[in-house]
Amino acid sequence: MSEQKNKKEDRKKQITIIAICILAVILGLLIYCLVTMKNNGEDKKEIAYTELVKEISDGTVEKVEMTVGSTSVKVKLKDVEEEKNAIVPNTQAFIEFIHDKMNDGIFINLEQKQPNILIRISSNLFSFLPTLILLALVVIMFKMQGLGDKGKVYDSETTKSKITFDDVAGLEEEKHEMIEIVDFLKNPKRFYDMGAKIPRGVLLCGQPGTGKTLIAKAIAGQADVPFISMSGSEFIEMFAGLGASRVRKLFEKAKKISPCIIFIDEIDAIGARRTSNSGAETENNQTLNQLLVEMDGFDTEETIIVLAATNRPEMLDKALLRPGRFDRRITIALPDLRGREAILNIHAKEKKFAEDVNLKSIAEDTAGFSGADLANILNESAIIATINEHDAITNKDIEDAVKKVTVGLEKQSRVVPERDKRLTAFHEAGHAIVSSQLETQKDIKEVSIIPRGVAGGYTMYRTNEDKYYISKTEMEEKLVALLGGRAAEKIVLNDISTGASNDIEVATNIAKDMITKYGMSESLGPISINTEQDPYELQLLGEKFGDAIGAEVKILLDTAYQRAQKLITENMDKLNKVADALLKKEVISAEEFQELIK
Ligand code: ADP
Ligand code: ZN
Repeated sequence: MSEQKNKKEDRKKQITIIAICILAVILGLLIYCLVTMKNNGEDKKEIAYTELVKEISDGTVEKVEMTVGSTSVKVKLKDVEEEKNAIVPNTQAFIEFIHDKMNDGIFINLEQKQPNILIRISSNLFSFLPTLILLALVVIMFKMQGLGDKGKVYDSETTKSKITFDDVAGLEEEKHEMIEIVDFLKNPKRFYDMGAKIPRGVLLCGQPGTGKTLIAKAIAGQADVPFISMSGSEFIEMFAGLGASRVRKLFEKAKKISPCIIFIDEIDAIGARRTSNSGAETENNQTLNQLLVEMDGFDTEETIIVLAATNRPEMLDKALLRPGRFDRRITIALPDLRGREAILNIHAKEKKFAEDVNLKSIAEDTAGFSGADLANILNESAIIATINEHDAITNKDIEDAVKKVTVGLEKQSRVVPERDKRLTAFHEAGHAIVSSQLETQKDIKEVSIIPRGVAGGYTMYRTNEDKYYISKTEMEEKLVALLGGRAAEKIVLNDISTGASNDIEVATNIAKDMITKYGMSESLGPISINTEQDPYELQLLGEKFGDAIGAEVKILLDTAYQRAQKLITENMDKLNKVADALLKKEVISAEEFQELIK
């Protein structure tokens, strides 16, 4: 479909909406006039309040009706066919009407000898009609606007709170990577003239609340360009066929206001791997296909950067990740101790704190918290302080806020309980201590107990990029280092956990490769078996050979585990020191580690 046609259609739609609105307003007014006229009609006689009271006491009144909110009551007299309208002279008179909640009626309190007369409350539908129509109109108008205008434009000129990189704490490397995008948005011509190709799509990967949206907004703010955002789930919740047209509209709008940023949150909702062409998935495929078309269809003059956020990059359709689409990926991890302190500092800016508050120690107590969690904690603490009528936020207020947020977090199993933290600390210390005793493994870069992905912690090694070959000794020592975590758990806590499952998997694969790929087994000799390529290879070699491979793999792993346990027992004091330091600081740098085991 051509762009012109789309524009025309949009305009037509707008005109129709306006016409409907005007018509409805006129209709509403007409009805309102009719109703008021009817009420003032001559066919109703009016009687004064005193007269009403008199008639009631005379016993000539059969029924009195009152409309909620109106000053008149409808009176039906006994033996009289016609109804009279009684005018209540002033609202004060209503005091004499007693509301009986039990029977949901109103009584007029007369002299005691008179029986109470019930006044039924009958709401006059007609008097409400205009209001109802107007209300319905407003709702419809909002709905219609929403349909045509789901992508919100935060124009950098109209947004007062302009978010820049200064509002994003930590994430220095991520921000650094984004600087070229900001430069490009500010001055695209320079890049084009140079013949440089700038990424069109950047995928921001990370858990919820790690600041993906924030950094996307900051790029827009930093470059002073509009920010159009939309959530992937918004594309698909609509009726069939609308997802694709929404994607088209979104990019159309972006082209109109370019240079700009498009931000698609939860892209996995549309970008999940395409499967069979059935039912709901077909709709999803259309949306995804449209997105792919749009990503490919940028002209050179259009300075648009598409940022997309997801927590599950592995779910995405491979087509989305191809060059020219989302070919750049930036992973945003949960903040470390320093990052958390920085985030707390940013969100503390506009708050009043008592002197006993130490944001650093709060950062220490909040391992595993995201930036959003930390912002939330400070906000909760301000609420708690207000409720407690404190002059400023106290440390206790913050501790209460942490607890309040933690309970919510534990459900999502994102906060590390103290017991798990201790286990992780000894596990990681085990890797580190064992490694430090092995010639090929001792180059440790960082030890951490901050959860990352599925792992509760990690021990990072320096990688030597000049290396081409790995020796048998190195592979054997790698096995020992990998099993060091499990060994420490067993010796210190006298129990083992599932935390080592990945280590064991990696170790087993290395051991298998040593025997079947690199021919490192003395007894089996230099042989390479690739059962993935040829499933019958092992059959060819015979059952006994298969058993022998299994036995060799087991020997490698058992030997490594024995060595790891021995190294742990020999270095218990160092292990304790490192584990303690981990519990306190969460992350230990290479230097700090060397200092600890000196
Ligand atoms: P995501 O898009 O990754 O789910 P958001 O960007 O929506 O996360 O983050 C939610 C809120 O958490 C932000 O608006 C901000 O207040 C806070 N936040 C998260 N990360 C940071 C950070 N690095 N610096 C400052 N505030 C942060
Ligand atoms: Zn481990």
